Amino acid sequence: MNDAPAAPLETPLDSLVVAVDGTSGSGKSSTSRAVADRLGLRYLDTGAMFRAMTWWMLRHDVDVHDAEAVARHAADPVMVSGTDPLGPTITVDDEDVAVAIRTDEVNAAVSPVSTVPEVRARLLAEQRAIIGAGGIVVEGRDIGSVVWPQAEVKVYLSADAAARAARRALEAGGADVSATEASLRERDRIDSGRATAPLVQADGAVQVDTTGYTLEEVVDLLVALVDRVGEPAG
Ligand code: C5P
Repeated sequence: MNDAPAAPLETPLDSLVVAVDGTSGSGKSSTSRAVADRLGLRYLDTGAMFRAMTWWMLRHDVDVHDAEAVARHAADPVMVSGTDPLGPTITVDDEDVAVAIRTDEVNAAVSPVSTVPEVRARLLAEQRAIIGAGGIVVEGRDIGSVVWPQAEVKVYLSADAAARAARRALEAGGADVSATEASLRERDRIDSGRATAPLVQADGAVQVDTTGYTLEEVVDLLVALVDRVGEPAG
């Protein structure tokens, strides 16, 4: 495939950071993985890290609505995130939790856990360590605003709540669309309203409403944004 930009990038791909933020179900994961694969970059799903932390709290009977209890245990889980876009992995205390972190129980508990500053501080440090020298597409809620504001490419993905719910319900093998929409809206509400690192469109982020577009169209658009990084200004 001939996807190489015409002019050499000012920032070589292997040190580039692409930050993809947005609401639940806006297509962040599929888009970010496909962009990373097309460009030969690593991929980090920060949502999976918050989900893994939440899974551990539930497994250890920590009350996820008790912020002090969650904070006390924020350092306990040993988490390892793999960054292959074709097969992202995540383990907690050596257990593969890639599937277990996608349950309704985790969906309902992850936003409260993610509001706890001690959780965010710990995962922020780990996310920055993984990003390291770059060459990565990172998806989340606060990547362009807090985790890596210096990212060369920042994107904020959004989509109609109904479209997002329909996509998620389909991914979940035909789950109830209106219940899925209610769950997404509730997570958006908590994620946007929290005091620490709320979901916002970062300064300099390009907003992309994915409602009427296919995955391939959105991926093409992001790849074009990356190509543009190497073009002379003006
Ligand atoms: O992206 P995903 O829907 O898997 O994220 C699950 C939850 O993790 C979000 O609803 C949010 O509460 C939290 N999260 C976050 N900051 C990030 C990524 C995810 O607070 N960077």
